Amino acid sequence: MSPIRAVLVVEDEPAIANLVALHLEQCGFEAVIASDGRRALDLLGKALPSLVVLDLMLPDMDGLDVLRRLRSDERSARLPVVLLTARGSEEDRVTGLELGADDYVTKPFSPRELMLRVTKLLAVREPVPQDKMPTVFGCLEIDEDRFRVAVEGRTVEISATEMRLLTELIRARGKVLSRTQILQSAWGFMPNVTERTVDTHIKRLRQKLGAAAAYIETVRGVGYRWVEDPSAASTRKAVTV
Ligand code: CA
Repeated sequence: MSPIRAVLVVEDEPAIANLVALHLEQCGFEAVIASDGRRALDLLGKALPSLVVLDLMLPDMDGLDVLRRLRSDERSARLPVVLLTARGSEEDRVTGLELGADDYVTKPFSPRELMLRVTKLLAVREPVPQDKMPTVFGCLEIDEDRFRVAVEGRTVEISATEMRLLTELIRARGKVLSRTQILQSAWGFMPNVTERTVDTHIKRLRQKLGAAAAYIETVRGVGYRWVEDPSAASTRKAVTV
């Protein structure tokens, strides 16, 4: 389950990398930039994004070697890869496709064209929707498809990250999720996000949920849990204390 869609952009030219990242973010993706091949392989060794945009001309190694390494590792053998290639380097494109790249754009490219290829590749691989999560908990209503959360009938402004947090907790309802698990499922491939971030977002989410905040229980030293009946939980606590 990975509701987040992170894209790793492997490109050493900052202007191009930033342009691509900006367009990805406008399309609702999280963009992570790696400015050389080594950094890219390092990041990919830790966690996998949804897709990689890979420039073939990198300062430290050939982009084709990065692709080769990705394809030879079982974990990333099917990771969607879009190549950025230089005009006139037909041989590189052919080699790239033979090595298993999914698509390519030729520099100079239109960012919109690149976004079309990225979204097309990810749409094909979109997983089958999972069972619908419950949408009403007491005074709290959640409509994931319409991106709407309401408490006591009033709509609450919620960010995409908060919505992911909320739906991850609810899907695992009853079960404690550790901060690391929450990071993996709600943030996915985000190397700069720390466990502290989870706490900050939970705090903000609780504030927004107001009367429904008690559904999120802190499990000291472990993480967080969605409780289906907070009133029962607080009674239990009161009795144990
Ligand atoms: Ca380059």
